[in-house]
Amino acid sequence: MNDDAFQEKLNYHLLDGFTKQTSTVLSGHFLVASINIGLFWQQISHTFIFAWATFLFVIGLARWLLKSQYQRHHRRLSPGFWHGLFAASSLSLGLAWFAWCMHVSMAIEFSGLGISIIVITAAGLVSGAVASTSSSIYSYIFFSGPILLPLSAAFLFHDDTETRGIGLLIGAFFVITLRQLQRINWVLRESIINRLELEKSKEQTEKLANELYALSTIDALTSITNRRGFNEALNREWLRAKRSTTPLTLLLIDVDFFKPFNDSLGHPAGDECLRLIASALTHYARREGEVIARYGGEEFAILLPSTLGIDGVTIAENICNSVATLNIKHPASGAAKYVTVSIGVYGTVPEQLDDSQELIKRADQALYQAKAGGRNCARLAESAE
Ligand code: GH3
Ligand code: MG
Ligand code: MG
Repeated sequence: MNDDAFQEKLNYHLLDGFTKQTSTVLSGHFLVASINIGLFWQQISHTFIFAWATFLFVIGLARWLLKSQYQRHHRRLSPGFWHGLFAASSLSLGLAWFAWCMHVSMAIEFSGLGISIIVITAAGLVSGAVASTSSSIYSYIFFSGPILLPLSAAFLFHDDTETRGIGLLIGAFFVITLRQLQRINWVLRESIINRLELEKSKEQTEKLANELYALSTIDALTSITNRRGFNEALNREWLRAKRSTTPLTLLLIDVDFFKPFNDSLGHPAGDECLRLIASALTHYARREGEVIARYGGEEFAILLPSTLGIDGVTIAENICNSVATLNIKHPASGAAKYVTVSIGVYGTVPEQLDDSQELIKRADQALYQAKAGGRNCARLAESAE
């Protein structure tokens, strides 16, 4: 994950946290609004109350729709754009409360119990916003600023010293809560970053483990599956064949007179010969579940699911021809002037109590017969019955 992608993910996490608060935030607004309307019903013009309540309802609805859109299609817009939209909706809510607090304060001339209710309302809404907008500093500023700053200014310009004191307190309250919010926002970001980094390193570890596993089942010389990979494939295919009562056929392939080949041409030439044979064999395992593997030193194995033993023999004979056509010169073979292979074949539909080792044992017996039969040929092992 590059830095941009990481940043984007972090921003989406912050937005997720922000939008999850929507129901609580809106219920809080409607509750505080209802109480305020009830308390000031006698003092405020009903036209203003209805207009204001409608405005608040429309903004609340818009915020709800925005949140639903975000939850459904958040990938359609960049996180920055969403942050902008949510900050705009916070600004609208802030302006609605600004209108209420200023209108009521002026109507009651900044005096009496009413003004305490307005201060408590403003302070309560802003305290709530510290928690609900902790993932977006701008939303907090756009919401709290319009409520607290004009109110603080209006109080500060008042003649009465006590009222001016309240104005000062409101201003200080804004600065303190903003500072707190910055800290909470920082902690929140850090915790999301830690989580994302943990997820990233988990992904990397899993990827590395998969790569290591893949490497541990590959033969270094020929780059085909090794004995370990073959054993796993055999167990897997054996169980599958058992479940589906379909045949499974094994070809055990052994290079003829390979020791004399090494002795006369050297070990590096022997290695190259094994690589060429492995590469020729790869053409014979193309369907899903078919595996070719280096079984031992100069021995290879091919596992053919859904293939009858008799069909395996045809394939084995084609393999003998393919290896012969590679025309790798062999100065010390008792079978031909070029490198040849002998192949033992065994195919069966595994019964419930059968063991997969039986497949190897019988294919090996057939290989022995192919060797005894003059090499450069394939033999099919008899069925168990
Ligand atoms: P047969 O026809 O009966 O199979 O005779 P063979 O000589 O092929 O069989 P034997 O088991 O006597 O010899 C196998 C040889 O394979 C011995 C060993 O040196 C050689 N060999 C095994 N692994 C490698 C390898 O990775 N590279 C090379 N170059 N030779 C190998
Ligand atoms: Mg051998
Ligand atoms: Mg051999």
